[in-house]
Amino acid sequence: MHETLPKKDLVLIGIGHTHAHIVRMWKMNPIPDVRLTCVTNFWKATYSGMLPGTLAGLYPRERMEIDLVRLASASGARLIQAKVTGLDRQRQTVLVEGRPPIPYDALSIGIGSRPVDPPTGGNDRAVVLIKPMQTFLDRLDERVAELFESDGRDSIGVAVVGAGAGGLEVTFAMPAYFERRHSRCRLRQILIDRHTAIGRGLDAPTVRRVRRELERRGVEVMLGRDVVRMDGRRVYFSDGGDVECDLVLWAASARAPDALHGLGLPTDEAGFLLTDSTLRTIAGDAIFAVGDTGTIEAARTPKAGVYAVRQGPILWENLRRQLSGESLISFQPQKGFLKLLSTGDRRAILSWKGLSFHARWCWKLKDYIDGRFMDMYQSFDGMADGAMASAPLPPTRRMKVRCTGCGGKVGGSVLSRVLDRLDIPPSEHVLVGLDQPDDAAVIRPPGGRPVVATADFFSSFLDDPYLVGRVAALNSASDLFALGSKPVAALALATIPVGDPRKQEDLLFELLSGSLREFRAMGATLVGGHTIEGPSITLGFAMLGGSDESPPTLKSQLVTGDLLVLTKPLGTGILLAAHMQARLKAEWMDGLQSVLLTSNQRPAELAREMGVRGMTDVTGFGLAGHLLEMLSASGLSAELWLETLPLLPGTEELIRDGVESTLAPANRAALAEMDVPMELQRLPTYAALFDPQTSGGLLVAVAADRADDYVSRFAAAGLPPARVVGQVGRGGRGPRLKLAARRVHRADEAVAGGARS
Ligand SMILES: Cc1cc2nc3c(=O)[nH]c(=O)nc-3n(C[C@H](O)[C@H](O)[C@H](O)COP(=O)(O)OP(=O)(O)OC[C@H]3O[C@@H](n4cnc5c(N)ncnc54)[C@H](O)[C@@H]3O)c2cc1C
Repeated sequence: MHETLPKKDLVLIGIGHTHAHIVRMWKMNPIPDVRLTCVTNFWKATYSGMLPGTLAGLYPRERMEIDLVRLASASGARLIQAKVTGLDRQRQTVLVEGRPPIPYDALSIGIGSRPVDPPTGGNDRAVVLIKPMQTFLDRLDERVAELFESDGRDSIGVAVVGAGAGGLEVTFAMPAYFERRHSRCRLRQILIDRHTAIGRGLDAPTVRRVRRELERRGVEVMLGRDVVRMDGRRVYFSDGGDVECDLVLWAASARAPDALHGLGLPTDEAGFLLTDSTLRTIAGDAIFAVGDTGTIEAARTPKAGVYAVRQGPILWENLRRQLSGESLISFQPQKGFLKLLSTGDRRAILSWKGLSFHARWCWKLKDYIDGRFMDMYQSFDGMADGAMASAPLPPTRRMKVRCTGCGGKVGGSVLSRVLDRLDIPPSEHVLVGLDQPDDAAVIRPPGGRPVVATADFFSSFLDDPYLVGRVAALNSASDLFALGSKPVAALALATIPVGDPRKQEDLLFELLSGSLREFRAMGATLVGGHTIEGPSITLGFAMLGGSDESPPTLKSQLVTGDLLVLTKPLGTGILLAAHMQARLKAEWMDGLQSVLLTSNQRPAELAREMGVRGMTDVTGFGLAGHLLEMLSASGLSAELWLETLPLLPGTEELIRDGVESTLAPANRAALAEMDVPMELQRLPTYAALFDPQTSGGLLVAVAADRADDYVSRFAAAGLPPARVVGQVGRGGRGPRLKLAARRVHRADEAVAGGARS
């Protein structure tokens, strides 16, 4: 059955309190024929309501985090981490750094707010900004560790700048924060604000209660004081005064994020986007602004998460209506709301219509409300089921039974049986062909110099065509790198789903722009190709490369005693399989992308510079399969040391949970030629041997006395580390590939090494 491209694009910039609701609703009831794209600056979002509790050690950190990778994947939305640089309202596109513009038919901006800038010119390390909240805890922990490392202090002065609700909660959380880390340290606390009142927006009884609690704890409150400088020892005020303090937490009042400045949309005096009551910007386009980012012109409310959350359902309704041309409904902000301030000691101060309490039950109520909110965004299993059950989803997000990327390859044994059955005519022009299969063929056209040629393509494995385009180029060129060839030209082989020609154009443009970025970097260009309509997105390239004077590095050229060096960690197949099940965690995304997007060009050049003769790239058949191809071609055996095999973050956890690529069982056919001690089969690296790699690393056979040099050249070239993972042995009877936990130095090693000469 052919998939069709969605007719319209809905884009959300920033996934916070309001937009998280849209992504969640998308899973339950996606808008037909619309693709949802989320642009984010971090793979996670934080829930500010739980930050103070997390600081005080009342929650584990994960409790305040929304994993956007899993949320988007479970909902069938595509998630792009990128920096927004502007809007082209004429063309209805979002401009982003380093990639093609993202088209929209409806757009919503909800990137929150940030504290006004702290004064510069002092010691910037003395200040820890509360935003971005995703990194706040790390930055705070790091700074505190530094302060305690430098001198054996027994006291610390901590100032919080900003006496709004957030600043107050952070102040109240500090004793518990330091108690857990440095219980013997005396904490001196200062609360500073340029305004003369604390807790703006709180009623008088609540303010009195807050002040009593601050007094009881001995917090020095300095109001009406404007901070002009901080140097890590003192904070200086505009009135000439100062106060001693080692660390400043900056939670000053909210201002518009810088990203809003260049959008060309009408703003209020603080730089937030002005909207009407429907949450649509007053510019009148199909652009909405929500949460802290928007200011409703006729009903200005404080910048509070409560309003951001309440806007979710109205925005959801209005986005649907905008896309179907219906009239919009209005958001009616409530006059007041229940306020609950955590005091960091399993109590909270509650404020409601002039009533105020400070008690344990208030904390329990806050904990219940916050917990219920986060539960909606932290349970992905149900979400994944819902996403699969609710049709229609965007084409690339329909449930995929088979793995994609290089995990979508046909099993190695199928291919070899077919090649055996075919009667392939010999040719005098083929220098390396199917009689000695390698990563690429080497052909000498009549009267010409040898040309290295290969073709590689795969089904789209992520909902980000630009990224898929980049990986497709790197993956295809990698076969040439493995033979020591320099790519010259590429011919595209693309399939795109049926749909509106404008959407097809956008898709193909994104795919090929990504590829061109990589071709440009490797010194190659696009010279042609063929694009057809088909059931799903596939992309690959036929690549042509030149060869230098030295012979190609072939699979068949291993030498007994060579050490085997692997240039990238394993695990892309498992991580991509997990992503299809909404199980790929946000913290693993950077590792995955860095492997996918690291070119094998420089590692291959380094190998050639060192006279390496045998290498291959590790792709669909996994490390075991590709190494066995080399061993079989060279008529030799090898030992692999499982404890030295590098794995991508997350791989081990997923293997223990039983996640694997659909190609892994076919790859285990390699076991027929392997000797595997029983006790090693429980190691995660054993399972990873059969994991199909998309844009995997090179497996390089380096003379034993040069392997350390090769590995250390990686660091000098700024490449991710390479690892020695095994050694080539002699040929003969018995299994070609032996597994061991680690390298054992044997007496006959010198003999094995000596075979090279
Ligand atoms: C310590 C603290 C405690 C608080 N407690 C409460 C409380 O108990 N109750 C309450 O009502 N309010 C509270 N607030 C206020 C509340 O946090 C905000 O009002 C709320 O976060 C606004 O939600 P939002 O969706 O507009 O923005 P956010 O929830 O901040 O979401 C914006 C998202 O956009 C992302 N983003 C930012 N810039 C970009 C960019 N350029 N491109 C892409 N993405 C971007 C951010 O990373 C973030 O994930 C508190 C604030 C603080 C600082």
